[in-house]
Amino acid sequence: MTASSGASGFCANSSCSHANNEHNYFTCKAHKCRVKWKICQTMSHDTGLTTSTKYAICKKCTAHPGGGPDGFEEMLDLA
Ligand SMILES: [Zn+2]
Ligand SMILES: [Zn+2]
Ligand SMILES: [Zn+2]
Repeated sequence: MTASSGASGFCANSSCSHANNEHNYFTCKAHKCRVKWKICQTMSHDTGLTTSTKYAICKKCTAHPGGGPDGFEEMLDLA
């Protein structure tokens, strides 16, 4: 086994379940907040009707729902 430099394991969000290394992390934009938003970039989430080609929010800052990365309003919210 070789140690990988990236994140290992799978997303804890049951609506996602993609590998953690397919995600990006963004620090919440709110002043002094260090909470990390977790964004899935596989662009393959089943929305029930179709497969979404948008990024998905797997984890967000609950204290600052508006503190996400650029364009997060357009993302699929799984959080
Ligand atoms: Zn995820
Ligand atoms: Zn995902
Ligand atoms: Zn925050």
